[in-house]
Amino acid sequence: MQKEISGIIIECVKGNIAAQPDITAIVNAANAWLRPGGGVAGAIHQAAGPGLAKECEPLAPIEPGQAVITGGHNLPNKYVIHTLGPVYGVDKPEDELLASCYRNALKLAEENKIDSIAFPAISTGVFRYPLEKATAVALKTVLSLLPTLKHVKKIRFVLFSESDLLVYEAELERLTAGQ
Ligand code: ADP
Repeated sequence: MQKEISGIIIECVKGNIAAQPDITAIVNAANAWLRPGGGVAGAIHQAAGPGLAKECEPLAPIEPGQAVITGGHNLPNKYVIHTLGPVYGVDKPEDELLASCYRNALKLAEENKIDSIAFPAISTGVFRYPLEKATAVALKTVLSLLPTLKHVKKIRFVLFSESDLLVYEAELERLTAGQ
């Protein structure tokens, strides 16, 4: 699914965040220590190679909602933006912290003149944020920031399953109805 809003392309696709070769910056659903781990972080570090963990080391630890930027190493992307999502039911207020992840990632993208960025569904894996709730926060936050973006021209949401993709598509339709 693809939409153009405020001159910016918004896409929802099913796929692997570590296999988005046409995107300048991918976002990592990182852990506080910016270490490989599982899920999104595991896939990104595996594709990037050990140089990424080395570059991350002095930047850690990060707080929920914070974001930091590194190079892409062996990934096809120029940058990785690492953000720490809230653990659902633990890091509060979780909706504000999750919104900060998207806001701070886009802020770094703008500061680095990045034209395209891909997000996974932050916090919805081992951090247990319910997908529907996380989707609403992610899309509302990103849509509200579109008018402020000068460099970012494409934002892609990469979902790992067909059912997650359907939730994103329905919410994007709902939030942009009439646009
Ligand atoms: P968190 O710790 O923030 O919850 P996870 O990496 O555990 O992060 O999961 C975040 C979301 O990303 C989950 O919905 C999970 O299904 C999905 N996911 C896992 N691996 C990948 C991948 N390689 N590409 C895109 N999404 C992924």
